[in-house]
Amino acid sequence: MDNKFPGKDISTDDLKTKFPLVAKKYKGHKSKFKIAGVEFGGKTIPIFAGPNMVESKELILDVAKNIKKNKCHFLRGGAFKPLTFPYRSKNYNETRELGIKWLADAKSKYNIPIITEVMEEKFLPLVTEVTDIIQIGSRNMQNYPFLVACAKTNKPIMLKRHYGSSLRDWLGAAEYILKSGNKKVILCERGIVAPHTHRVTSRFLIDLQVVPAAQELTHLPIIVDPSHATFWRPWVKPMALSAVASGADGIMIEVHPDPKNALVDPLQPIDYKDLKDLMLSMNKVAKAAWNRKVF
Ligand code: PEP
Ligand code: MN
Repeated sequence: MDNKFPGKDISTDDLKTKFPLVAKKYKGHKSKFKIAGVEFGGKTIPIFAGPNMVESKELILDVAKNIKKNKCHFLRGGAFKPLTFPYRSKNYNETRELGIKWLADAKSKYNIPIITEVMEEKFLPLVTEVTDIIQIGSRNMQNYPFLVACAKTNKPIMLKRHYGSSLRDWLGAAEYILKSGNKKVILCERGIVAPHTHRVTSRFLIDLQVVPAAQELTHLPIIVDPSHATFWRPWVKPMALSAVASGADGIMIEVHPDPKNALVDPLQPIDYKDLKDLMLSMNKVAKAAWNRKVF
C-alpha cells in the first residue's frame, strides 16, 4: 500500500478510489460555504451553543437570547434524542415535534439559525422546515441509507464522528453525502471510546489530532464538540481552547442556564457566565494561533 501519509491507515489510493469527493485535491484546497449567512472554512470560527435537549419553550427561548447576546452563531438543541438507555421519567422525555416547534419559535424571535439532530427519515420533512443544519449523531454515522436521505434534502449536514470510528470510516460516511449531491458537509469530532485506563476519568477521549489529520486529507470543515467529548464541565473550557488551537473550523458547546439541573447529561453544560468567558478566551486563542476569530 502506498502510504504517503505517515502513520495513517489511509493510502493515497483511498483518496482516489474510496472518497474522491471528500479528498483534498491540492495544497490549500478547503471548502468555504455559507449557511444562513455564516461562513464555514473561513476566517471566523462559528460557535454552536445550546442545551443538550430542547426541554421546554421557556428554556430554548432563554438560551437563544443569551447565546445570541454572547455572539454565538447557531443555536443547538435536540428534540429527537439518541438517549443511551430507554427508560424515561416524567422529567426526562424527548420533546420531539413540540421541541422542533419551540426551536422554530426561538429562531424567529431571536433571528438565530438552528442545528438539530434527526434520527429517523420520516421526520426529515418536519425538521428541514425549521433547521438550518441537519445534525447526524454519532450513533447514526454509518447508517448509510439515512445519510443518503438526509443528503437529498439538500440541507447542510453536520456529520458527527461515531465514537468508535476511524477517520477512514468517517470520511467514507461523508463520501455518501457528497456522492448524493450535497456539498455542504461539516465534520464534528465529539470524543472516541478510550482504553479502559482512560475511562476511569472520562467516558470518551477527545481526539484533537484528528483535526489536522482531517484537514490534511479533506477539504471539508471540521468542528469539535468538547462537551460530549469530556462529559465533564470543568474540562470543557480547556478542551474548547485546545480545539481552537488545534485548528478546528467551529466549536459546539452545551450551554444551560442551570447546568446542574439540565435534564440530560447535567455534568457537561456550562452556564451563561462561563460561556461569556469562553467566547472571549476562544477569540484570543483563535487570533494568537491562526489569525482567525470567533466573533
Ligand atoms: C448531541 O449533540 O446532542 C449528541 C447526542 O451528540 P452525539 O451524537 O455526539 O452523542
Ligand atoms: Mn448527549
